[in-house]
Amino acid sequence: MILPKSNHLTPEQVAEVTAIVGGFGCQIQPIIGAVRTIYAIVGDERDELMINRLEGLPYVERIDRIQSPFKLMDRRSDLASHRIRIGGVTLGEELAVIAGQCTIDPKNPGYFMETAAAVKEAGAHILRGGVWKPRTNPYAFQGDAKSIDVLMEASRQTGLPVDTEVMDEHQVRVALDAGVQMLQVGARNALNYSLLRTIGRAVAKRDTVVLLKRSLHMGSLNEFISAAEYIASFGNPNIVLCPRGTSPALDGYRNHPDESITPLLKEKTWAPVVVDPSHSVGKSSYVPACALAAVAYGADGLCIEAHVNPSQGIGDDPKQALTPEVLAETIAQARQIWSLRHSAVGGV
Ligand code: PEP
Ligand code: MN
Repeated sequence: MILPKSNHLTPEQVAEVTAIVGGFGCQIQPIIGAVRTIYAIVGDERDELMINRLEGLPYVERIDRIQSPFKLMDRRSDLASHRIRIGGVTLGEELAVIAGQCTIDPKNPGYFMETAAAVKEAGAHILRGGVWKPRTNPYAFQGDAKSIDVLMEASRQTGLPVDTEVMDEHQVRVALDAGVQMLQVGARNALNYSLLRTIGRAVAKRDTVVLLKRSLHMGSLNEFISAAEYIASFGNPNIVLCPRGTSPALDGYRNHPDESITPLLKEKTWAPVVVDPSHSVGKSSYVPACALAAVAYGADGLCIEAHVNPSQGIGDDPKQALTPEVLAETIAQARQIWSLRHSAVGGV
């Protein structure tokens, strides 16, 4: 829909916009109002270049798109009935829980084995463990590729599928070859389109699930869903959206909690939403409240950092990991909220 700056376009302006949209197989249909005339674009209006050319015209105020820019991730797409199943749960049918350490400590792999057993006992369906770590400080521990063996051994011992973050093509390959079932795209790489394409290609003929975090800055919902569309466009629609707090932080929290975007995401996309309260608030004492709020807002699952002995952990674990006891309690309460939500009139 073209909204002109004046009440209507001149015949010359109509001729110019008609020529532009005609180049993209579209037509113009004026909608004449009492005062103002607006111009519908009839045809497939998703071509970015066509929109940019129209927006570049000095007499155009703005272009409102009627069609969704997402062919696959849109709520009304043919994939809307697609269901993602991992760790014995079908997302959307039962609250899914991903839990485990921020970072696997290669010097103390025993902790990860204990954490894995404990999060399973607490009710988690998927085990998380950071092998390669994106760190703001280049001198901080960057992870250790050998930890992939620890991750997969914990998976074998517990029977839980695993989630780990990958940041480049080599890590994607190593993780998939090892049998990782869920690849995590972190907040720092959430808009790395080259990586999103690499992951899309790598998982195209597999049933791997991708956990796509929201980018660090306060990006739009369309930007978030478009990142998922990049991955899905290669053929694997197993993508889970993960709000994890954005920057700038709310004073006192690590980030600005954003679990409240869940209902807004669900209006636009069919993709399940799994909220990460750990990176959102960044301190273990705040994590349970954020987790419960996320479920109240409609989250399909939670991704929570947990450690059998947080003070002995590395990476984020000393400050934000839950103990297995608190994790178990949080999961139990989250399930109650899930049930309440599903029993409520108009519940989602
Ligand atoms: C993590 O999951 O440990 C992590 C670094 O996440 P994020 O990308 O959300 O910061
Ligand atoms: Mn972390």
